[in-house]
Amino acid sequence: MKTVLLKSPGDILISEIETTQRQDGHVLLRVRSAGICGSDIGAYKGVNPLVSYPRVIGHEIAGEIVEVADDETEYKVGDRVIIEPYVYCGTCYPCSIGHTNCCENLTVRGVHIEGGMAEYVSHPRHLLHKVPDGLPWHLVPMAEPLVISMHAVKQAETKAGQHVVITGAGQIGLLAAQYALTLGAIPIMVDPVEERLALARSLGVAHTLNPVSQDVVAEILSITQGRMAEAVIECSGDARAIRGTVDYVAYAGHIALVGWPKSDIPMPTALFTKKELTIRGSRNSVGQFPESLRLIAEGKVNVQALLTKTVTMDETPATVADIAAHPEKYLKVTCLL
Ligand SMILES: [Zn+2]
Ligand SMILES: [Zn+2]
Repeated sequence: MKTVLLKSPGDILISEIETTQRQDGHVLLRVRSAGICGSDIGAYKGVNPLVSYPRVIGHEIAGEIVEVADDETEYKVGDRVIIEPYVYCGTCYPCSIGHTNCCENLTVRGVHIEGGMAEYVSHPRHLLHKVPDGLPWHLVPMAEPLVISMHAVKQAETKAGQHVVITGAGQIGLLAAQYALTLGAIPIMVDPVEERLALARSLGVAHTLNPVSQDVVAEILSITQGRMAEAVIECSGDARAIRGTVDYVAYAGHIALVGWPKSDIPMPTALFTKKELTIRGSRNSVGQFPESLRLIAEGKVNVQALLTKTVTMDETPATVADIAAHPEKYLKVTCLL
């Protein structure tokens, strides 16, 4: 079968390998679509220490079931599904309290184990979600970044009527803003790139701020009539944005950190106490795929607007290389396999 194989950092190609067989407790999928994620680009650039090589990339994977176990009752051949790519151990402490998203022994497809950018993939049957009828293949992988954003919105305890500052208008930030809107919250998007802010406005975000040309603290103070934001979601990983979260947040507010910083960042920790902040990490997601798929299928979250383009499997290696070289040209790319 054909795969998108990362032989070593900077060396990506279409490679023929022996066709995957269905494993015990798994279903076998004919992969139909995949999303190219930031972590795939990190693997290509060799900056993700968790990735070993050679590695088939891809964790945002959707496909059609082609083989199930004889005693399978829930799934049948022909079902359209998306995989939940976070394969957890089920026995460690976080797993024992239901936080399987931050399992101590987590293995993620395309990172720790072979990814799904291949014609076939065998995946645990309990980590699948049925795709609503009529949702086109090229949009299905977007359900994975959306669950990341939904989890971050939840970690920040975002509620209807509240202001939520979102730093970083990449795919995670723009999806978080749209999800916050479905909850009746009021997003305030902060990003230095004007085109991204314009896209946010076209998706219904009323307040957008550019930290290069505007005094973000003063603007948030004015928008919130002196309160500051009850919730802040940091999606960029940028050091200045992370530092800014404690200034943007209200007293007794909540901060969720979903962006991965590149290094340690000094923080005014006295403000954590003075404002009595709740600061939470936000990693992967748990239990949110069904709602994510429904929101996309019902058009409540517009994922099409975030797609820069959709490419074929043969075009995928060159596209990954181009995204790594010119990240500013892309917001999100999906592949039809
Ligand atoms: Zn992803
Ligand atoms: Zn675990």
